[in-house]
Amino acid sequence: MGKKLRFSDKQTGNGHRRKEREFMDINSRIKDVVSHGELSEKYKYSLIISLIMTVHVILIALFCYFQILPLILLNIGSVILYILCLVMVRRDKSLLFVFCATYLEIIVQSFVSTLCIGWHFGFPQYIIALVPFGYYMCHTLIGNRRRYVIATVLGLIAFASFIGSRMLSMYFDAIYQLEVSTGGELGIYIFNSICNFGFLFMVTAIYIIEMQTAQNKLRSQNAVLDQLANIDPLTGLYNRRSMQAFFNQAIEAGSPFCLVMCDIDDFKQINDTHGHDIGDMVLREITRLIREQVEHHGQACRWGGEELLLLLQCDREEACRIAESIRREICEFRFPVGEQSIQCSITIVVARHREGDAIDHTITRADNNLYYGKCNGKNQVVSEKNMEILQKKY
Ligand code: GH3
Ligand code: MG
Ligand code: MG
Repeated sequence: MGKKLRFSDKQTGNGHRRKEREFMDINSRIKDVVSHGELSEKYKYSLIISLIMTVHVILIALFCYFQILPLILLNIGSVILYILCLVMVRRDKSLLFVFCATYLEIIVQSFVSTLCIGWHFGFPQYIIALVPFGYYMCHTLIGNRRRYVIATVLGLIAFASFIGSRMLSMYFDAIYQLEVSTGGELGIYIFNSICNFGFLFMVTAIYIIEMQTAQNKLRSQNAVLDQLANIDPLTGLYNRRSMQAFFNQAIEAGSPFCLVMCDIDDFKQINDTHGHDIGDMVLREITRLIREQVEHHGQACRWGGEELLLLLQCDREEACRIAESIRREICEFRFPVGEQSIQCSITIVVARHREGDAIDHTITRADNNLYYGKCNGKNQVVSEKNMEILQKKY
């Protein structure tokens, strides 16, 4: 600690490339999360348009049966309009235009059908369904706050045309008097109701699916960001920043705990001799060995370059025992380098946290003791107990 990390040119190059790899990895993970589970826009709008178009084809057949030419032509015109809309959706052309055309077409259709054959066949129902559809589409397609104003204005237009067609049909007779039985009239009314409710169900289902997808996406993004913010990508350990929460927890718990600072001996030399990638491998292996030992006793984090900090929830004797076991295991471990293997050692400091002390104070004590450990031959466990002997030396 206290010493600045220095990278040789070769190491800096390798480190830079590693950072780039990590960055690309992070980016692709975020992209994965973002793209996962999204309802395809093309698929969604094509489905809506196709269903509306199908209703119009059925209406063409119905009006052909009753021989009402204006409504046949109007519905043929609508089918042509929707074919155009389908092409536009497929080619990613203006969805706003497609939405406006659909909205206007439904109003005109309902209005004209009501004027031609009367109120009681249920054509005005379609206008009611436009209100939630309008809000959904404006919310999806328009990015700014005006979307709610636009949706409300469109809703009011729909409302005016609904009331307007009702009033007109009250004061004027329908242009065409259909010769149809009460059952037939009810049949047409139920058909229109089914189409109208089907449309409402579809818009609601799409809305719920999209809301659920957005929630899932947000949860996954948060999990990824949480991991990126707290976990060191090389070692998989917590990073320095995230340790603060564990310090706070340990202090609040009030039970004894120790901070254990570990610094790999002559790590720069390993990098210089074998390259940065081997250095990374050694760091990862040492982390694994330490993690196995610490698993049931506390938390470990990457404090700095080749420095690891452990928070052990036990007294100093137990912490020293664990530290000694870590030191021995690392010292005896053979790190594979091609056909051969290398050995390395670690200097470890155990500092008991004193009740009432600031955590920074305990860290500074550990830091200072590490200096003595390094100057006193490295590859050892230093605790306040053996400090006195060391201090006499320096
Ligand atoms: P000492 O025994 O006194 O601790 O010597 P040292 O060489 O371990 O310490 P020094 O602080 O001089 O060098 C630390 C080196 O750790 C410098 C830097 O190249 C290396 N290092 C820091 N982070 C990484 C990393 O993520 N990967 C690799 N491979 N090396 C790293
Ligand atoms: Mg160091
Ligand atoms: Mg070191």
